[in-house]
Amino acid sequence: MYLKNSEIIVIKIGSSLLIDDKMNIRNKWLTEFSKDVKELIKQNKKVILVSSGAIALGCKKLNLTMRNLKLDKSQAIASVGQIELMNLFKKIFNKMKINFSQILLTLEDTEQRRRAINAKRTIDNLLQMSFVPIVNENDSIATSEIKYGDNDRLASRVAQISNADSLILLSDVDGLHDKNPKLFKDAKLIKEIQDIDYKIENFATKTVNIYGKGGMKTKIDAARVCQLSGCSMAIANGLYLRPIKKIIEKNNCTWFLPKVSKLDARKKWIVSSISPKGHLIIDEGAISALKKGKSLLAAGITDIKGNFNKGDHIKILDKNMKEHARGLSSFSSSEILKIKGKHSNKIQSLLGYVSKSEVVHKDDMVEI
Ligand code: GLU
Repeated sequence: MYLKNSEIIVIKIGSSLLIDDKMNIRNKWLTEFSKDVKELIKQNKKVILVSSGAIALGCKKLNLTMRNLKLDKSQAIASVGQIELMNLFKKIFNKMKINFSQILLTLEDTEQRRRAINAKRTIDNLLQMSFVPIVNENDSIATSEIKYGDNDRLASRVAQISNADSLILLSDVDGLHDKNPKLFKDAKLIKEIQDIDYKIENFATKTVNIYGKGGMKTKIDAARVCQLSGCSMAIANGLYLRPIKKIIEKNNCTWFLPKVSKLDARKKWIVSSISPKGHLIIDEGAISALKKGKSLLAAGITDIKGNFNKGDHIKILDKNMKEHARGLSSFSSSEILKIKGKHSNKIQSLLGYVSKSEVVHKDDMVEI
């Protein structure tokens, strides 16, 4: 039902859907899946794919096993495998007359505002030209510090910047269960989730298959980003043939419902950052000021963690480490170390230059 009302749909395909555990390409699956994509296009929906598989297909091509790959090796393998991946889509999508293109993103392409807007424009243009963008992380360039590391969170950020209505994470399980379905026969599928509380987090066991990087943990992280972006997200079993048709007909999956969000696009981008660079601890007075929609001043900051620059994403927490807001810092972490706890009229003399008086301006901050 969520898919029926969606205009822009992002679908994430895990590596294990494209290549089986004996390293055989699942041509039949992709052929059937391409029928799903064609059907969505016929219904005037815009489709964006986020596909893993560069490393798996690179390993196949080079006759290597995927276990225990060092970063530099996997970067090189991905460079070989990404071509294999696109050739595979070309072979199958051409038959179905689906136009598609490739976009490779690094973390900073979505985490820096200017670059995120750029990526959005490219995606919008491709959709307008009736192309299906196929996105992957730029694994050959990404290093461990600047990496999504998994395509679940990448897909959620792609959904957020492209203003998608739904994100479907196609995985190898039906959805989120109250127990691990691979171990317990009586595990029950949870069909709809409004709030991600500690119980839901507990259900998300950290099972990781040999190809994919994700497991349930990163899917829950992705769901959080989607909820705050006003996008519905499903975890569904992609192993079936025609998995999207199956979702539409049977709805046997887990849907995370969006939180009603009145935030503008920029604030959505701020609140759904996936790599805040640090955090500020603030006192009670500052918390009540934030609740009234005021900016955060230096006087209310009691502690600070992380190394960040002016303009970076940060979290704003209370002394019990509960998160109250996210925002963009107007000062670097080294400047905040000098001014924390101090009245705004002291900032100039403490830093030795004139600057803003708000550490996080209300326009750059979203309360959680
Ligand atoms: N980007 C990786 C690849 O294409 C996959 C990451 C993931 O499995 O989530 O191989």
